[in-house]
Amino acid sequence: MAHSIKIAARLRPALPGEITDDNISIQLASNESTDSAMKSSHISVLNPRDITQIFKFPFPSCYDHNSTQKEIFRNDVEPLLDVVYKGVTVTIFAYGVTSSGKTHTMQGTKSDPGIIPRTVQALFGKRIQYPQYKISFTMSYMELYKDEPYDLLVTRENAPKLPVREDGNGMVFVANLSSVPIASALDFDQIYYQATKNRSIGATLLNRASSRSHAVLTIEVVMLDPLQQKTVTGKINLVDLAGSENNKLTGNDPSRMAESRAINQSLSVLGQVVHALNQGASRIPYRNSKLTRLLQDALGGSSMGLLICNLAPGTKFRQDTLNTLNFATRTK
Ligand code: ADP
Ligand code: MG
Repeated sequence: MAHSIKIAARLRPALPGEITDDNISIQLASNESTDSAMKSSHISVLNPRDITQIFKFPFPSCYDHNSTQKEIFRNDVEPLLDVVYKGVTVTIFAYGVTSSGKTHTMQGTKSDPGIIPRTVQALFGKRIQYPQYKISFTMSYMELYKDEPYDLLVTRENAPKLPVREDGNGMVFVANLSSVPIASALDFDQIYYQATKNRSIGATLLNRASSRSHAVLTIEVVMLDPLQQKTVTGKINLVDLAGSENNKLTGNDPSRMAESRAINQSLSVLGQVVHALNQGASRIPYRNSKLTRLLQDALGGSSMGLLICNLAPGTKFRQDTLNTLNFATRTK
């Protein structure tokens, strides 16, 4: 079965006052090039101790600091939305250190919307291509903090840790996670906005940063064929992962250490799972973290995925950049 997870990279522009690392650059693919190495996009990193040494990290898809939200959506996301309408599950991850641009890429801003609002808009827009079906949409939204799921669609007082259960087929799911109908893109915006507030209130209550949890947004497209009384359900998961920074920096606070452990473990297992899928391995180590257990039905089989590795250009992120590039290379 042709399941695979495409690995893309995006380098964000420098923020005001940020000192950028001149040793990192992106070479975009050029079909005209006679140099075969230039036919695929790659990120080059000069070894700061020996600038004659260049590390090259090839990517099927690369976005430099000039790239736009629209470009990423058009090239790498929109092609996946047709299969959602065929009943396939698609998962998109944003991976990277805190401040590398994950949330910008996934959510964006009102004036510069990212993958999430564009996806919702496009999914609603596609309805007219399927007049034979009665189509409805639902969403659920949770965060995984220290490996525990919390519902983001209910106010924080009503959002305890949710239990993770397994059904008779060995499929793992979050019990009692709410799933609400969405009537339009505007309806989605309102629910999503409230959920984002719930997320930050929850983070404050637990005295931690929201970048320390994984946020998993799921949108389902339910297509009822009235003639055959049959439904087909397609699904897209949009995952803004917790920051991948070197967690040694968090000191000796036991709560922060437990946080770091949960993040390191889940991101490293995610890397192993993506690698195993891309290699066509027969054993996929889903069970080694809750994130991958919960996404098991969304990874593998006939499902499709995209992992965007976000990179920050600042000198202070050099080690994180190398870590992210190595993670990306290991997952191919
Ligand atoms: P993360 O979610 O990985 O912690 P953010 O998405 O919050 O990172 O990005 C950090 C900062 O950089 C934010 O101020 C954001 O607006 C800005 N930023 C990130 N990517 C871009 C981009 N492609 N263009 C412009 N600004 C960006
Ligand atoms: Mg973020």
